[in-house]
Amino acid sequence: MARVALVTGGTRGIGAAIAKALKAQGCEVAATYGGNDEAAKAFTDETGIKTYKWSVGDYDACKDGIAEVEADLGPVDILVNNAGITRDAPFHKMSPQQWQEVIDTNLTGVFNMTHNLWGGMRKRKFGRVINISSINGQKGQFGQANYSAAKAGDLGFTKALAQEGARAGITVNAICPGYIATDMVMAVPEKVRESIIGQIPVGRLGEAEEIARTVVFLASDDAGFVTGSTMTVNGGQYLT
Ligand code: NDP
Repeated sequence: MARVALVTGGTRGIGAAIAKALKAQGCEVAATYGGNDEAAKAFTDETGIKTYKWSVGDYDACKDGIAEVEADLGPVDILVNNAGITRDAPFHKMSPQQWQEVIDTNLTGVFNMTHNLWGGMRKRKFGRVINISSINGQKGQFGQANYSAAKAGDLGFTKALAQEGARAGITVNAICPGYIATDMVMAVPEKVRESIIGQIPVGRLGEAEEIARTVVFLASDDAGFVTGSTMTVNGGQYLT
């Protein structure tokens, strides 16, 4: 039977590449998004992958949304917590709202999604949880106290939960992408982009498909002994 995969924020950027790659592996895939209906429709038209709209920051919405996905596709075996936002500002100018929005989506969202799927994975004795963190959760980044805190939190969550899932056949891993050529990064002025590329030993931005291929490995049955790990996929920009 095909595995069922749910990718949050799976309609654009890195998440879209992940959803497509999992589908190419034979998974039944659901992609969620937060609000951009146009992008979601274009994604479904291109890929045939069904999309679902709710905010990962809302626990009850996650519960109801997951029930809808499972009614359509069956129990979720693979969860990719990819949805994420930035609300950058130097700390002295950062508002409590900018802090809270990023924590709610990038950290609490990971709890909300995983918590609502955990019981089923435990019962079925199989699960793959893959959390998309960031290089900036590892090294910190000026103007991103909120984002770096949330993404570092995702790494602690991954390590703790891996220990709880191990005997139940559930692996929990994190991926820390470096700078990837998504809309977000391509929107920064060319000069800034060039300076970022100058800090990457491989000499280029990453491709969303390179993150997707890492997810495909971690999601596979072959990766059953890999749990609690942090996969660094950053072109050598930051070595832990
Ligand atoms: P994008 O901005 O291109 O896409 C984000 C996706 O997340 C969209 O589908 C968006 O939905 C969805 N989303 C945002 N907020 C919510 C929410 N509250 N509930 C549900 N879905 C939501 O992001 P990227 O592809 O650039 O990034 C993907 C992940 O990778 C993020 O976690 C990011 O932090 C991380 N990352 C990205 C890097 C990069 O260089 N791009 C580097 C390191 C990490 P909608 O379309 O409706 O807005």
